[in-house]
Amino acid sequence: MDYRRVKRILFVSVFMNFVFISLQKKEEVLLDMVASGAELGWLTSPVEHGWEIGQRAVNGSLLYNYYICNVEEREQDNWLRTTFIQRHPTASRVFVELRFVVRDCNSFNADSLICKETFNLYASEADADIGTAFRKGLFRKVATIAPDEISSLGEMKMNIETKVVDNLSRKGFYLAFQDIGACVAIYSVRVYYKTCPATVKSLAEFPETVAGGENQALREVAGSCVSNAVSEDQPRIYCTTDGEWVVPVSQCQCRPGFEAMNDACQECQSGFFKSSVSSEACKPCPKNTQPSGHGATSCTCMDGFYRATEDPKTAVCSGLPSAPQSLVATTAQMSIGRLQLSWRPPADTGGRSDITYTVVCERCEGRACQPCGEKVRLDPSNTDLKETRVTVSELEPHLNYTFTVEARSGVSQFSNKRATSSINTALHYTDPPKVTAMHLVDSSSTSLSLQWSVSHRSKPVATRYELMYRKKENDEEIANGKVTTYTVLVLEKNLVQISDLSPSTVYLFKVQALSPEGNPGSYSLEQEFSTLPQASQKTGNTAVVLGAAIGGGVMLFIVVVVLLLRKRRRNSHTRQGPEDAYFSSPDQLKPLKTYVDPHTYEDPNTAVLKFASEIHPSHITKQKVIGAGEFGEVYRGILKAPSRKETAVAIKTLKPGYTEKQRQDFLSEASIMGQFSHQNIIRLEGVVTKFKHAMIVTEYMENGALDKYLKDHDGEMSSFQLVGMLRGIAAGMKYLSDMSYVHRDLAARNILVNSNLECKVSDFGLSRVLEDDPEGTYTTSGGKIPIRWTSPEAIAYRKFTSASDVWSFGIVMWEVMAFGERPYWDMSNHEVMKAINEAFRLPAPMDCPSAVYQLMLQCWLQDRSKRPRFGDIVSILDKLLKSPDSLKAIADFDPRVSIRLPSTSGSDGSPFRSVAEWLESIKMSQYSENFSIAGIVSMEQVLQMKSEDIRNIGVRLPGHLKRIAYSILGLKDQTSTLSVFAV
Ligand code: AMP
Repeated sequence: MDYRRVKRILFVSVFMNFVFISLQKKEEVLLDMVASGAELGWLTSPVEHGWEIGQRAVNGSLLYNYYICNVEEREQDNWLRTTFIQRHPTASRVFVELRFVVRDCNSFNADSLICKETFNLYASEADADIGTAFRKGLFRKVATIAPDEISSLGEMKMNIETKVVDNLSRKGFYLAFQDIGACVAIYSVRVYYKTCPATVKSLAEFPETVAGGENQALREVAGSCVSNAVSEDQPRIYCTTDGEWVVPVSQCQCRPGFEAMNDACQECQSGFFKSSVSSEACKPCPKNTQPSGHGATSCTCMDGFYRATEDPKTAVCSGLPSAPQSLVATTAQMSIGRLQLSWRPPADTGGRSDITYTVVCERCEGRACQPCGEKVRLDPSNTDLKETRVTVSELEPHLNYTFTVEARSGVSQFSNKRATSSINTALHYTDPPKVTAMHLVDSSSTSLSLQWSVSHRSKPVATRYELMYRKKENDEEIANGKVTTYTVLVLEKNLVQISDLSPSTVYLFKVQALSPEGNPGSYSLEQEFSTLPQASQKTGNTAVVLGAAIGGGVMLFIVVVVLLLRKRRRNSHTRQGPEDAYFSSPDQLKPLKTYVDPHTYEDPNTAVLKFASEIHPSHITKQKVIGAGEFGEVYRGILKAPSRKETAVAIKTLKPGYTEKQRQDFLSEASIMGQFSHQNIIRLEGVVTKFKHAMIVTEYMENGALDKYLKDHDGEMSSFQLVGMLRGIAAGMKYLSDMSYVHRDLAARNILVNSNLECKVSDFGLSRVLEDDPEGTYTTSGGKIPIRWTSPEAIAYRKFTSASDVWSFGIVMWEVMAFGERPYWDMSNHEVMKAINEAFRLPAPMDCPSAVYQLMLQCWLQDRSKRPRFGDIVSILDKLLKSPDSLKAIADFDPRVSIRLPSTSGSDGSPFRSVAEWLESIKMSQYSENFSIAGIVSMEQVLQMKSEDIRNIGVRLPGHLKRIAYSILGLKDQTSTLSVFAV
């Protein structure tokens, strides 16, 4: 056999089939036999009869290979050594990829012991090229190279093996192939190391990095943020021995004015901005800013718009607020040098919610104005007011004042423009004169005539006086804890004769002047005067108070307050401890003509004492909780005052942990209620103020709140009874309006019903409209208003008057006639206000007498001056009650204007699934059977029904008939949303 010929055939054919595989990206090639082409210059040993070089032209290129095939000769040791391969300084690990063919020993008749099918790979490190000086002993074996497949004659099975030469440290190395008797041809030797290529991950750049070797499997690499990105910590990543990046750690984020895009930070486009280092995208410039240029970090405000100092750069720019609106000075409290300024927030807030107000007070004489100075007090403050009102006190009478209210916001400081409203006002009130000295004019055994003088810095004014006197207890009486009685007289003149006194008795008197507006001055010193002994009676015994006659005037009225004081002696002084006092209010207490706002009292506790009687808690027994008030539980209980019969009472309590302000607010209800005395106003029995647990005790109303009572007795009362109840409420309201008291929260829930079905107006707390009522809804001006019950003008600009109470009364009429139905059903407050403004009104409730409904409509006239007064309402209702026939005509209902019952679909808004479900929703379940017996089992059938059909199936009661018929009309008109119709 000619082995050389065999060899040639083998190598050429293999080469023809060789497909060159392109280099991988991550590999840095140090040696490539194929690419080197011509002169490889590899060393062979022995030089003769060892490895040989072959060549072949493929597609016009000459390619080389090394082969050997000494299969029949013993002890072969043929070496083929590469040229010196420079190592990359950080590549301690290189890969050697071999492509080779090995001939099957069986292809030859060779001795199997001599013929081999493997060869060996060796490596030797050096710091310099040692040229041809080849010493086997310097090489270390890397691997035995065994083919996966051996080739028979004529076959070309290419093997590809990759071996790793690791732990390299010197400048370069040689590779060598040792043949020990195989028939082998090497087609390609490629030596390379791997790198992790330069990369950008999470806005961090990492350089190309040579993959580590065995001793450093994961190479940590530090990176840096791409341009215009920053990070607190240096970004890090690891390069694996396979040249792959793993575990990038980067917190790089684009700088202000830049956003991340395609692994880079790019400038924000014009019209966009980014104000901080963040991973967010640029945002469009906010409202009222100028369009920004490229890379903007903020957008500048347009002229006339600003950002407050504390606003972030990202905030919209706001304009200046406009002036406060509807500035008014309320003069109700003017008599004591006070007035209340109130206004509405500016129409334009400039888009800000931090509106505050500054009030400037100036005193004007002619055109010359000067600041009011510190004497005039503005409460709570004159600057930074969040509320739209301020109480001004310590004003001088008869002077002109100008109040300027400025609306300010966080941006006002940036402009010189001022948004102000001004009002001029003068106080024409009179100081109550000071009572200077009281002296005895005349006396008898049973009477004393007294006179006193007053000092007044201005002209004498018509004035009234409040005189208080009591018997002076002797020591024995004091020791026995004797009860003392105070009597209070309101007088028109500065003299009085008091009769029916005991002979030889010392009385203590003090007097206070009241200004014409009813405000009290300070009390005079308490002075003693005694009656004469029985025998030396000088004047006849008069059983009446004649002071007025003496003075030529008329006594305005007599207020008798019986003040029972149990006194105890302590260290020879008498002292009144809180637990010792007991006040009881007599039934004959008559109301003053005008309601006095407890706020006019500097100290609200004075007002409580003035208008309410103190009850000792030991006289009160709580029985059962009957309700929850704003300040605490409401109990039913018993009041047993000495020498009075037991009375059922309601006891309102103040829950523990209250603040002084809450206590005063709680007690203010008693201060108000205590001024009223009317059959239809809830009666105050008294208060407990001198003990920790403050209480308000009122008459007990067995049937509780009216709205609940009506709901519980739906359909059980006649129109006559309902109108009777309304008459009572109207009478109570007439009384209140006569006293100039505006209730503001008149609603069925605030009317109480006793066992005789008498209705009484309740709920008088000062804060009640603001805080207490669950119906209260915040308006834009900040107050809380029960929208459904409140007149348009009160909602719009807080114009609360008796006329607005009349509107509420109309709603109460509707609630009553509809048996506690919720006004406007499930319409939202917004829908209600919209409907009212569009002149829609509630429709007549079922079975409502036409005359009653007409009265409701009168109460709901837009023009408040056209609404009836409570006096008119009482007369109209009285007339209706006197001729019950007038209640027979039932208000008409016009289906064309879209009345429908609120329930025209299931609770979830879907159509009713069954007739039963529908009947239940309109509270007519009792007719379920009538419907099913008549074969009406689907809602489709229901929709076909006419009034006659409803009557024919057995619905006879007109109210029920109507309710069902209206509901069917509503069901047919699902598109209509308003349950109201136009007046
Ligand atoms: P108010 O804090 O006045 O709204 O009272 C809360 C609840 O207590 C009311 O809704 C009534 O149910 C009940 N209530 C209040 N006062 C009385 C009273 N004088 N008689 C009977 N129940 C009352």
